[in-house]
Amino acid sequence: AKEAGKAQFARYSTELQAAAQKRLDLHNALARALARDEFELHYQPICRIDDGRPQVTTVEALLRWRRNGRLESPLQFIPALEESGEIIAVGDWVLREACRQTRHWQLSGQEGLCCSVNLSSRQLLQPGFAQRVAAILRESGLRPTCLMLEITESLLMQDSAETLACLRELAVLGVRLALDDFGTGYSSLGYLKRFPLQILKVDRSFIGGAPDDPELNAISRAIIGLGRSLGLEVVAEGVEDPAHLDFLLGQDCRYAQGYWFSRPRPPAMLEPLLLGEEGF
Ligand code: C2E
Ligand code: CA
Ligand code: CA
Ligand code: CA
Repeated sequence: AKEAGKAQFARYSTELQAAAQKRLDLHNALARALARDEFELHYQPICRIDDGRPQVTTVEALLRWRRNGRLESPLQFIPALEESGEIIAVGDWVLREACRQTRHWQLSGQEGLCCSVNLSSRQLLQPGFAQRVAAILRESGLRPTCLMLEITESLLMQDSAETLACLRELAVLGVRLALDDFGTGYSSLGYLKRFPLQILKVDRSFIGGAPDDPELNAISRAIIGLGRSLGLEVVAEGVEDPAHLDFLLGQDCRYAQGYWFSRPRPPAMLEPLLLGEEGF
């Protein structure tokens, strides 16, 4: 039994070592990824749905990492970037690239197109972040009202004076602020009043079940109604089929996003949708 225990311990510690090594490899590879130009942005449309045919008004930039020929999901590597602090440099690149690409689309005929960029708390807590955003906007030529920044409830939960001051500065610039994944996590309705938000993104876990599940249906209606009565625009996430869209059309929800319209795509693949050459 003692021998078996030893063997098990040896195997366990080898596994631990392998996991630690894997983590180290990930961090090392991420540290070089920006310089090696391995990051790219895919874009997913956000559509206005309340007047006839859905229209793309905004594109959400979603980060991808091309590692050894494979595209890695942000869920696999953003936590590591946040841990190492590299999210600051990478996030800066994401903002610059999304603003540049959107301005390019505007100049090629999509005049009113806006883009939306996800922020992590480390970025927002960085001194001078709002001024950095202002500089990126100037450099790209994108109007501040064409940039939407998505923040999460966990970020607002930190509720520091710095966060609030930074969000106010961003709002003064004219940038629009969206609360992402609303309804998950530690929702406090107080956030909606305390922070200068313009947009509420209803998490896909509500929309997905809303047509069939009476409780999710009630929750989705209540969230949409709450947002609208506070004067916010509401974006429904996770619209995957026509039943989801039908449900929303019966609500006061003017914007939607999800696989039903399009998965996130590399910029060139998005163009047929922007040009209306490809329908929904
Ligand atoms: P998110 O901001 O909630 O982005 C939406 C995620 O849901 C995307 O996953 C998108 O591909 C997926 N999605 C969109 N429509 C549907 C749908 O109809 N059904 C389902 N099942 N999923 C849908 P993705 O691209 O893997 O991104 C995951 C998360 O990574 C994002 O969630 C966001 O929190 C984070 N992220 C992505 N890019 C960035 C970035 O540049 N910076 C930061 N800080 N976070 C990012
Ligand atoms: Ca988002
Ligand atoms: Ca979301
Ligand atoms: Ca999410």
